[in-house]
Amino acid sequence: MSEYKMGKSAEMFERAKRSLPGGMDSVARVPPPNVLPHPPYFERGKGCRIWDVDGNEYVDYALGFGPLILGHCPPDLIAAVEDVIENRGTTFGICHNLEFEAAEKVVKHLPAVDLVRFGNSGTESVMIALRLARGFTGKEKIVRFEGAYHGWSDVIHWNTRSPLGAIGLKHAPRLVPGTAGIAEPYGQCLIIQPWNDPDVLRKTIKRRAHEIAAIITEPIMCNLGATMPKPGYLQFLRDICTENDILLIFDEVITAFRLGLSGAQGYFGVQPDITTIAKALGGGYPVSAVGGRREIMDLMGQHLITSAGTYNGNLLCLAAVKATLEALEQPGVYEKLHALGDRLRKGLEDVIHQAGLPVVAQGVGPVLQVWFQDTPIANYREAAGSKSQAIHPLFVRALYKRGIMLNPGQFGVWYISTAHTEQDIDFTIEAARGAIQEVKAQL
Ligand code: PMP
Repeated sequence: MSEYKMGKSAEMFERAKRSLPGGMDSVARVPPPNVLPHPPYFERGKGCRIWDVDGNEYVDYALGFGPLILGHCPPDLIAAVEDVIENRGTTFGICHNLEFEAAEKVVKHLPAVDLVRFGNSGTESVMIALRLARGFTGKEKIVRFEGAYHGWSDVIHWNTRSPLGAIGLKHAPRLVPGTAGIAEPYGQCLIIQPWNDPDVLRKTIKRRAHEIAAIITEPIMCNLGATMPKPGYLQFLRDICTENDILLIFDEVITAFRLGLSGAQGYFGVQPDITTIAKALGGGYPVSAVGGRREIMDLMGQHLITSAGTYNGNLLCLAAVKATLEALEQPGVYEKLHALGDRLRKGLEDVIHQAGLPVVAQGVGPVLQVWFQDTPIANYREAAGSKSQAIHPLFVRALYKRGIMLNPGQFGVWYISTAHTEQDIDFTIEAARGAIQEVKAQL
Protein backbone atom coordinates (compact mmCIF):
# COMPACT_ATOMS: atom_id res chain seq x y z
CA MET A 1 0.00 0.00 0.00
CA SER A 2 1.54 3.32 -1.08
CA GLU A 3 1.43 6.32 1.24
CA TYR A 4 -1.95 8.09 1.27
CA LYS A 5 -1.30 11.79 0.74
CA MET A 6 -4.00 14.45 1.16
CA GLY A 7 -1.98 17.69 1.48
CA LYS A 8 -3.01 19.35 -1.79
CA SER A 9 -6.67 18.49 -1.27
CA ALA A 10 -6.50 20.06 2.18
CA GLU A 11 -5.00 23.24 0.70
CA MET A 12 -7.61 23.41 -2.04
CA PHE A 13 -10.39 22.99 0.49
CA GLU A 14 -9.04 25.91 2.54
CA ARG A 15 -9.01 28.05 -0.60
CA ALA A 16 -12.49 26.91 -1.69
CA LYS A 17 -13.97 27.89 1.66
CA ARG A 18 -13.10 31.51 0.95
CA SER A 19 -15.47 31.73 -2.04
CA LEU A 20 -17.95 28.83 -1.70
CA PRO A 21 -20.27 28.20 1.28
CA GLY A 22 -18.72 25.32 3.18
CA GLY A 23 -16.12 25.15 0.40
CA MET A 24 -18.46 23.28 -1.92
CA ASP A 25 -21.49 23.24 -4.23
CA SER A 26 -23.56 20.45 -2.70
CA VAL A 27 -24.05 19.10 0.78
CA ALA A 28 -23.49 15.66 -0.70
CA ARG A 29 -19.77 16.45 -1.04
CA VAL A 30 -19.22 16.49 2.73
CA PRO A 31 -17.49 13.28 3.84
CA PRO A 32 -18.34 11.99 7.32
CA PRO A 33 -15.67 13.47 9.64
CA ASN A 34 -14.34 10.05 10.62
CA VAL A 35 -13.77 9.21 6.93
CA LEU A 36 -11.84 12.34 5.96
CA PRO A 37 -11.57 15.83 7.48
CA HIS A 38 -12.23 17.40 4.06
CA PRO A 39 -13.28 16.22 0.61
CA PRO A 40 -10.62 14.83 -1.72
CA TYR A 41 -10.12 17.01 -4.81
CA PHE A 42 -10.01 15.17 -8.09
CA GLU A 43 -7.83 15.84 -11.09
CA ARG A 44 -9.19 13.49 -13.75
CA GLY A 45 -10.95 10.20 -14.48
CA LYS A 46 -10.57 7.58 -17.19
CA GLY A 47 -12.62 4.39 -17.47
CA CYS A 48 -13.24 3.13 -13.95
CA ARG A 49 -10.21 4.96 -12.51
CA ILE A 50 -10.01 8.38 -10.91
CA TRP A 51 -6.97 10.38 -9.73
CA ASP A 52 -6.95 13.00 -6.99
CA VAL A 53 -4.73 16.08 -6.87
CA ASP A 54 -2.33 14.36 -4.47
CA GLY A 55 -1.63 11.66 -7.06
CA ASN A 56 -3.68 8.91 -5.40
CA GLU A 57 -5.26 6.56 -7.93
CA TYR A 58 -8.54 4.82 -7.19
CA VAL A 59 -10.93 2.31 -8.75
CA ASP A 60 -14.06 4.44 -8.70
CA TYR A 61 -17.36 3.14 -7.35
CA ALA A 62 -18.75 6.62 -6.62
CA LEU A 63 -19.00 7.33 -10.37
CA GLY A 64 -20.19 10.90 -9.94
CA PHE A 65 -22.96 9.65 -7.57
CA GLY A 66 -24.24 7.41 -10.33
CA PRO A 67 -24.35 9.03 -13.78
CA LEU A 68 -21.10 7.54 -15.07
CA ILE A 69 -22.52 4.16 -16.05
CA LEU A 70 -20.06 4.06 -18.97
CA GLY A 71 -17.17 5.15 -16.73
CA HIS A 72 -15.14 8.36 -17.05
CA CYS A 73 -14.49 9.81 -20.55
CA PRO A 74 -16.18 7.11 -22.63
CA PRO A 75 -14.84 7.79 -26.14
CA ASP A 76 -18.08 7.29 -28.14
CA LEU A 77 -20.09 9.49 -25.79
CA ILE A 78 -17.45 12.22 -25.89
CA ALA A 79 -17.33 12.02 -29.69
CA ALA A 80 -21.13 12.39 -29.93
CA VAL A 81 -21.14 15.40 -27.59
CA GLU A 82 -18.12 17.02 -29.30
CA ASP A 83 -19.77 16.56 -32.66
CA VAL A 84 -22.93 18.34 -31.58
CA ILE A 85 -21.07 21.19 -29.87
CA GLU A 86 -18.76 21.79 -32.82
CA ASN A 87 -21.33 21.48 -35.57
CA ARG A 88 -24.67 22.51 -34.10
CA GLY A 89 -24.32 24.31 -30.75
CA THR A 90 -25.32 23.57 -27.17
CA THR A 91 -28.88 24.82 -26.82
CA PHE A 92 -31.54 26.38 -29.01
CA GLY A 93 -34.35 26.66 -26.51
CA ILE A 94 -36.49 25.50 -29.43
CA CYS A 95 -37.26 22.18 -31.09
CA HIS A 96 -34.77 19.88 -32.78
CA ASN A 97 -34.56 16.24 -33.89
CA LEU A 98 -32.54 14.94 -30.93
CA GLU A 99 -35.55 15.52 -28.66
CA PHE A 100 -37.69 12.87 -30.34
CA GLU A 101 -34.77 10.62 -31.22
CA ALA A 102 -33.74 10.41 -27.55
CA ALA A 103 -37.39 10.21 -26.39
CA GLU A 104 -38.10 7.31 -28.76
CA LYS A 105 -35.36 5.29 -27.07
CA VAL A 106 -36.65 5.99 -23.56
CA VAL A 107 -40.21 5.15 -24.56
CA LYS A 108 -39.10 1.98 -26.34
CA HIS A 109 -37.24 0.59 -23.36
CA LEU A 110 -39.28 1.56 -20.28
CA PRO A 111 -42.51 -0.44 -20.24
CA ALA A 112 -44.47 2.11 -18.18
CA VAL A 113 -43.47 5.14 -20.25
CA ASP A 114 -45.65 6.18 -23.21
CA LEU A 115 -44.45 9.78 -23.34
CA VAL A 116 -41.44 11.48 -21.79
CA ARG A 117 -40.39 15.04 -20.97
CA PHE A 118 -36.73 15.88 -20.44
CA GLY A 119 -35.31 18.11 -17.73
CA ASN A 120 -31.93 18.60 -16.12
CA SER A 121 -32.03 17.08 -12.64
CA GLY A 122 -33.73 14.32 -10.74
CA THR A 123 -35.07 16.88 -8.28
CA GLU A 124 -37.03 18.75 -10.92
CA SER A 125 -38.37 15.58 -12.54
CA VAL A 126 -39.73 14.47 -9.17
CA MET A 127 -41.36 17.89 -8.74
CA ILE A 128 -43.10 17.53 -12.10
CA ALA A 129 -44.15 13.95 -11.31
CA LEU A 130 -45.89 15.16 -8.14
CA ARG A 131 -47.57 18.01 -10.01
CA LEU A 132 -48.81 15.60 -12.67
CA ALA A 133 -50.19 13.26 -10.01
CA ARG A 134 -52.05 16.07 -8.27
CA GLY A 135 -53.37 17.47 -11.53
CA PHE A 136 -54.50 14.11 -12.84
CA THR A 137 -56.24 12.89 -9.68
CA GLY A 138 -57.46 16.22 -8.35
CA LYS A 139 -56.14 15.14 -4.94
CA GLU A 140 -53.33 16.77 -2.95
CA LYS A 141 -51.56 14.42 -0.58
CA ILE A 142 -48.47 12.44 -1.50
CA VAL A 143 -47.37 9.36 0.42
CA ARG A 144 -43.59 9.24 0.80
CA PHE A 145 -41.55 6.82 2.83
CA GLU A 146 -39.25 7.38 5.78
CA GLY A 147 -35.59 7.58 4.81
CA ALA A 148 -36.32 7.98 1.09
CA TYR A 149 -34.54 10.68 -0.91
CA HIS A 150 -36.31 12.19 -3.89
CA GLY A 151 -34.25 15.35 -4.34
CA TRP A 152 -34.00 18.48 -2.26
CA SER A 153 -37.14 20.45 -3.21
CA ASP A 154 -39.47 21.91 -0.57
CA VAL A 155 -42.31 19.70 -1.75
CA ILE A 156 -40.67 16.36 -0.97
CA HIS A 157 -37.47 16.81 1.08
CA TRP A 158 -38.99 15.69 4.37
CA ASN A 159 -38.15 12.76 6.71
CA THR A 160 -35.06 11.82 4.77
CA ARG A 161 -32.40 11.46 7.49
CA SER A 162 -34.41 12.57 10.50
CA PRO A 163 -33.12 11.59 13.96
CA LEU A 164 -34.97 8.56 15.31
CA GLY A 165 -36.02 10.52 18.37
CA ALA A 166 -37.84 13.08 16.22
CA ILE A 167 -40.01 10.88 14.01
CA GLY A 168 -42.58 9.44 16.39
CA LEU A 169 -44.04 5.97 16.15
CA LYS A 170 -43.94 3.91 12.98
CA HIS A 171 -47.72 3.73 12.51
CA ALA A 172 -47.98 7.54 12.76
CA PRO A 173 -44.64 9.07 11.80
CA ARG A 174 -44.13 12.77 12.52
CA LEU A 175 -43.28 15.17 9.75
CA VAL A 176 -39.71 16.43 9.89
CA PRO A 177 -38.37 18.83 7.24
CA GLY A 178 -35.13 17.74 5.59
CA THR A 179 -33.54 21.15 6.13
CA ALA A 180 -34.14 24.51 7.74
CA GLY A 181 -35.84 26.92 5.37
CA ILE A 182 -38.76 24.77 4.23
CA ALA A 183 -42.17 26.25 5.00
CA GLU A 184 -44.35 24.02 7.15
CA PRO A 185 -47.39 23.95 4.78
CA TYR A 186 -45.38 21.93 2.23
CA GLY A 187 -45.21 19.13 4.75
CA GLN A 188 -48.98 19.19 5.21
CA CYS A 189 -49.29 17.86 1.66
CA LEU A 190 -47.28 14.75 2.59
CA ILE A 191 -48.13 11.57 4.45
CA ILE A 192 -45.06 9.82 5.82
CA GLN A 193 -45.08 6.03 6.01
CA PRO A 194 -42.62 3.25 6.92
CA TRP A 195 -41.32 1.32 3.88
CA ASN A 196 -41.77 -2.43 3.38
CA ASP A 197 -44.70 -2.40 5.80
CA PRO A 198 -47.99 -3.26 4.04
CA ASP A 199 -50.03 -3.35 7.26
CA VAL A 200 -49.39 0.26 8.24
CA LEU A 201 -49.91 1.52 4.69
CA ARG A 202 -53.12 -0.48 4.22
CA LYS A 203 -54.62 1.17 7.30
CA THR A 204 -53.54 4.64 6.19
CA ILE A 205 -54.99 4.16 2.71
CA LYS A 206 -58.23 2.85 4.14
CA ARG A 207 -58.71 6.08 6.08
CA ARG A 208 -57.26 8.59 3.63
CA ALA A 209 -57.47 7.28 0.05
CA HIS A 210 -59.81 10.13 -0.90
CA GLU A 211 -57.01 12.66 -0.22
CA ILE A 212 -54.05 10.78 -1.71
CA ALA A 213 -52.88 11.62 -5.23
CA ALA A 214 -49.82 9.37 -5.35
CA ILE A 215 -47.41 7.09 -3.57
CA ILE A 216 -43.80 7.79 -4.50
CA THR A 217 -41.03 5.30 -3.92
CA GLU A 218 -37.71 4.12 -5.23
CA PRO A 219 -38.33 0.52 -6.33
CA ILE A 220 -35.08 -0.34 -4.54
CA MET A 221 -34.26 2.09 -1.74
CA CYS A 222 -30.87 2.98 -3.17
CA ASN A 223 -30.73 6.00 -0.86
CA LEU A 224 -31.16 3.69 2.09
CA GLY A 225 -28.02 1.74 1.32
CA ALA A 226 -29.57 -0.44 -1.42
CA THR A 227 -32.46 -1.71 0.69
CA MET A 228 -34.52 -4.24 -1.26
CA PRO A 229 -38.30 -4.41 -1.37
CA LYS A 230 -39.67 -7.47 0.41
CA PRO A 231 -41.01 -10.08 -2.04
CA GLY A 232 -44.37 -8.89 -3.35
CA TYR A 233 -44.12 -5.42 -1.81
CA LEU A 234 -43.95 -3.48 -5.09
CA GLN A 235 -46.90 -5.45 -6.47
CA PHE A 236 -48.76 -4.68 -3.23
CA LEU A 237 -48.10 -0.97 -3.84
CA ARG A 238 -49.29 -1.33 -7.44
CA ASP A 239 -52.50 -3.07 -6.38
CA ILE A 240 -53.40 -0.77 -3.51
CA CYS A 241 -52.89 2.25 -5.79
CA THR A 242 -55.07 0.82 -8.56
CA GLU A 243 -57.82 -0.11 -6.11
CA ASN A 244 -57.92 3.39 -4.62
CA ASP A 245 -57.43 5.71 -7.62
CA ILE A 246 -53.97 6.60 -6.41
CA LEU A 247 -51.06 6.95 -8.82
CA LEU A 248 -47.87 4.99 -8.26
CA ILE A 249 -44.67 6.91 -8.94
CA PHE A 250 -41.42 5.01 -9.25
CA ASP A 251 -38.47 7.27 -8.65
CA GLU A 252 -36.04 5.52 -10.99
CA VAL A 253 -33.49 8.34 -10.92
CA ILE A 254 -30.93 5.70 -9.96
CA THR A 255 -32.38 2.42 -11.24
CA ALA A 256 -33.54 3.40 -14.77
CA PHE A 257 -31.08 2.18 -17.42
CA ARG A 258 -28.98 0.66 -14.63
CA LEU A 259 -30.71 -2.55 -13.60
CA GLY A 260 -31.43 -3.13 -17.27
CA LEU A 261 -32.77 -1.21 -20.28
CA SER A 262 -36.25 -1.61 -18.81
CA GLY A 263 -35.20 -0.27 -15.39
CA ALA A 264 -36.50 -1.54 -12.08
CA GLN A 265 -40.03 -1.66 -13.55
CA GLY A 266 -38.84 -4.29 -16.02
CA TYR A 267 -36.65 -6.04 -13.48
CA PHE A 268 -39.49 -6.49 -10.97
CA GLY A 269 -42.31 -6.65 -13.53
CA VAL A 270 -44.33 -3.92 -11.79
CA GLN A 271 -45.45 -0.89 -13.77
CA PRO A 272 -45.85 2.51 -12.14
CA ASP A 273 -48.08 5.25 -13.56
CA ILE A 274 -45.27 7.81 -13.56
CA THR A 275 -41.51 7.27 -13.67
CA THR A 276 -38.68 9.67 -12.91
CA ILE A 277 -35.37 9.05 -14.63
CA ALA A 278 -31.90 10.65 -14.40
CA LYS A 279 -28.28 9.66 -13.64
CA ALA A 280 -27.49 6.75 -16.02
CA LEU A 281 -29.75 8.31 -18.68
CA GLY A 282 -27.09 10.83 -19.74
CA GLY A 283 -23.85 9.02 -18.89
CA GLY A 284 -22.56 12.03 -16.91
CA TYR A 285 -24.39 14.97 -18.53
CA PRO A 286 -27.03 16.88 -16.53
CA VAL A 287 -30.23 15.41 -17.89
CA SER A 288 -33.34 13.87 -16.38
CA ALA A 289 -36.81 12.90 -17.50
CA VAL A 290 -40.31 12.25 -16.30
CA GLY A 291 -42.38 9.71 -18.16
CA GLY A 292 -45.63 7.83 -17.76
CA ARG A 293 -49.00 6.80 -19.04
CA ARG A 294 -50.17 8.76 -22.07
CA GLU A 295 -53.31 10.23 -20.47
CA ILE A 296 -51.30 11.56 -17.53
CA MET A 297 -48.41 12.94 -19.58
CA ASP A 298 -50.85 14.45 -22.04
CA LEU A 299 -51.87 16.99 -19.39
CA MET A 300 -48.56 18.66 -20.30
CA GLY A 301 -49.25 18.09 -23.99
CA GLN A 302 -52.51 20.00 -23.63
CA HIS A 303 -50.72 22.70 -21.61
CA LEU A 304 -53.01 22.07 -18.63
CA ILE A 305 -49.98 21.33 -16.49
CA THR A 306 -46.89 23.44 -16.86
CA SER A 307 -43.37 22.17 -16.94
CA ALA A 308 -40.74 24.37 -18.49
CA GLY A 309 -37.03 25.01 -18.44
CA THR A 310 -34.55 26.98 -20.52
CA TYR A 311 -32.22 24.00 -20.76
CA ASN A 312 -34.86 21.26 -21.11
CA GLY A 313 -34.00 18.98 -24.01
CA ASN A 314 -30.86 20.90 -24.92
CA LEU A 315 -28.70 19.56 -27.74
CA LEU A 316 -25.74 18.77 -25.56
CA CYS A 317 -27.67 16.63 -23.08
CA LEU A 318 -29.81 14.86 -25.64
CA ALA A 319 -26.80 13.99 -27.77
CA ALA A 320 -25.46 12.46 -24.54
CA VAL A 321 -28.71 10.55 -23.90
CA LYS A 322 -28.75 9.15 -27.41
CA ALA A 323 -25.11 8.07 -27.31
CA THR A 324 -25.40 6.65 -23.78
CA LEU A 325 -28.47 4.60 -24.62
CA GLU A 326 -26.86 3.37 -27.84
CA ALA A 327 -23.92 2.13 -25.76
CA LEU A 328 -26.23 0.49 -23.22
CA GLU A 329 -28.23 -1.19 -26.01
CA GLN A 330 -25.18 -3.25 -27.03
CA PRO A 331 -25.57 -6.97 -26.33
CA GLY A 332 -24.18 -8.24 -23.05
CA VAL A 333 -23.90 -4.89 -21.26
CA TYR A 334 -26.29 -5.66 -18.42
CA GLU A 335 -25.20 -9.29 -18.14
CA LYS A 336 -21.72 -7.92 -17.50
CA LEU A 337 -22.88 -5.28 -15.00
CA HIS A 338 -24.87 -7.87 -13.06
CA ALA A 339 -22.06 -10.45 -13.12
CA LEU A 340 -19.56 -7.86 -11.83
CA GLY A 341 -22.01 -6.76 -9.15
CA ASP A 342 -22.59 -10.34 -8.00
CA ARG A 343 -18.84 -10.98 -7.94
CA LEU A 344 -18.19 -7.87 -5.88
CA ARG A 345 -21.02 -8.53 -3.41
CA LYS A 346 -19.91 -12.09 -2.84
CA GLY A 347 -16.24 -11.16 -2.61
CA LEU A 348 -16.90 -8.40 -0.07
CA GLU A 349 -19.11 -10.67 2.01
CA ASP A 350 -16.49 -13.43 1.95
CA VAL A 351 -13.56 -11.29 3.11
CA ILE A 352 -15.58 -9.59 5.82
CA HIS A 353 -16.97 -12.90 7.09
CA GLN A 354 -13.47 -14.37 7.07
CA ALA A 355 -12.41 -11.49 9.28
CA GLY A 356 -15.12 -12.55 11.73
CA LEU A 357 -17.46 -9.57 11.30
CA PRO A 358 -21.15 -9.72 10.42
CA VAL A 359 -21.97 -8.53 6.90
CA VAL A 360 -24.68 -8.28 4.26
CA ALA A 361 -23.83 -6.82 0.87
CA GLN A 362 -27.29 -5.89 -0.32
CA GLY A 363 -28.60 -4.59 -3.63
CA VAL A 364 -28.91 -5.85 -7.21
CA GLY A 365 -26.37 -5.96 -10.02
CA PRO A 366 -24.44 -2.69 -10.28
CA VAL A 367 -25.98 -1.08 -7.15
CA LEU A 368 -24.88 -2.35 -3.76
CA GLN A 369 -24.01 -1.45 -0.21
CA VAL A 370 -22.20 -3.21 2.60
CA TRP A 371 -23.89 -3.33 6.02
CA PHE A 372 -22.01 -4.70 8.99
CA GLN A 373 -24.87 -6.76 10.40
CA ASP A 374 -26.26 -10.26 9.91
CA THR A 375 -29.59 -9.50 8.25
CA PRO A 376 -30.59 -7.20 5.38
CA ILE A 377 -32.03 -3.78 6.20
CA ALA A 378 -35.80 -3.51 5.72
CA ASN A 379 -36.59 0.13 6.46
CA TYR A 380 -35.30 3.48 7.71
CA ARG A 381 -35.76 2.83 11.42
CA GLU A 382 -33.64 -0.30 11.18
CA ALA A 383 -31.01 1.48 9.09
CA ALA A 384 -30.81 4.51 11.36
CA GLY A 385 -30.44 2.27 14.42
CA SER A 386 -27.91 -0.11 12.83
CA LYS A 387 -24.55 -0.60 14.56
CA SER A 388 -23.11 -0.86 11.06
CA GLN A 389 -22.93 2.91 10.96
CA ALA A 390 -20.08 2.89 13.47
CA ILE A 391 -17.96 0.52 11.36
CA HIS A 392 -18.77 1.72 7.85
CA PRO A 393 -16.78 5.00 7.93
CA LEU A 394 -13.69 3.16 9.16
CA PHE A 395 -14.06 0.70 6.28
CA VAL A 396 -14.47 3.50 3.74
CA ARG A 397 -11.38 5.28 5.01
CA ALA A 398 -9.32 2.10 4.90
CA LEU A 399 -10.53 1.50 1.33
CA TYR A 400 -9.63 5.03 0.21
CA LYS A 401 -6.11 4.42 1.47
CA ARG A 402 -5.98 1.25 -0.63
CA GLY A 403 -7.10 2.87 -3.87
CA ILE A 404 -10.86 2.31 -3.77
CA MET A 405 -13.17 5.34 -4.13
CA LEU A 406 -16.81 5.09 -3.11
CA ASN A 407 -19.63 7.18 -1.74
CA PRO A 408 -18.57 7.56 1.91
CA GLY A 409 -22.10 7.38 3.32
CA GLN A 410 -23.62 4.24 4.78
CA PHE A 411 -26.92 5.26 3.15
CA GLY A 412 -25.33 5.64 -0.30
CA VAL A 413 -24.45 2.89 -2.76
CA TRP A 414 -21.50 1.52 -4.68
CA TYR A 415 -22.01 1.81 -8.44
CA ILE A 416 -20.38 -0.30 -11.14
CA SER A 417 -19.78 0.92 -14.71
CA THR A 418 -19.29 -0.86 -17.99
CA ALA A 419 -15.63 0.20 -17.75
CA HIS A 420 -15.00 -2.00 -14.67
CA THR A 421 -13.46 -5.42 -15.30
CA GLU A 422 -13.21 -8.64 -13.31
CA GLN A 423 -9.62 -7.64 -12.51
CA ASP A 424 -10.83 -4.36 -11.01
CA ILE A 425 -13.38 -6.21 -8.90
CA ASP A 426 -10.75 -8.70 -7.71
CA PHE A 427 -8.34 -5.87 -6.89
CA THR A 428 -11.15 -4.29 -4.88
CA ILE A 429 -11.89 -7.49 -2.97
CA GLU A 430 -8.20 -7.81 -2.06
CA ALA A 431 -8.17 -4.17 -0.95
CA ALA A 432 -11.23 -4.92 1.19
CA ARG A 433 -9.37 -7.87 2.75
CA GLY A 434 -6.65 -5.51 3.94
CA ALA A 435 -9.11 -2.76 4.85
CA ILE A 436 -11.19 -4.97 7.09
CA GLN A 437 -8.10 -6.04 9.07
CA GLU A 438 -7.29 -2.38 9.64
CA VAL A 439 -10.88 -1.77 10.74
CA LYS A 440 -10.81 -4.73 13.14
CA ALA A 441 -7.72 -3.34 14.81
CA GLN A 442 -9.64 -0.13 15.54
CA LEU A 443 -12.77 -1.77 17.02
N1 PMP B 1 -34.36 10.81 -6.62
C1 PMP B 1 -33.46 9.87 -6.30
C2 PMP B 1 -33.91 8.47 -6.07
C3 PMP B 1 -32.11 10.22 -6.20
O1 PMP B 1 -31.21 9.28 -5.86
C4 PMP B 1 -31.72 11.54 -6.45
C5 PMP B 1 -30.26 11.98 -6.36
N2 PMP B 1 -29.41 11.17 -5.70
C6 PMP B 1 -32.70 12.48 -6.78
C7 PMP B 1 -34.02 12.08 -6.87
C8 PMP B 1 -32.35 13.90 -7.09
O2 PMP B 1 -31.65 13.95 -8.27
P1 PMP B 1 -30.66 15.18 -8.61
O3 PMP B 1 -29.52 15.09 -7.66
O4 PMP B 1 -30.28 14.96 -10.04
O5 PMP B 1 -31.48 16.43 -8.43
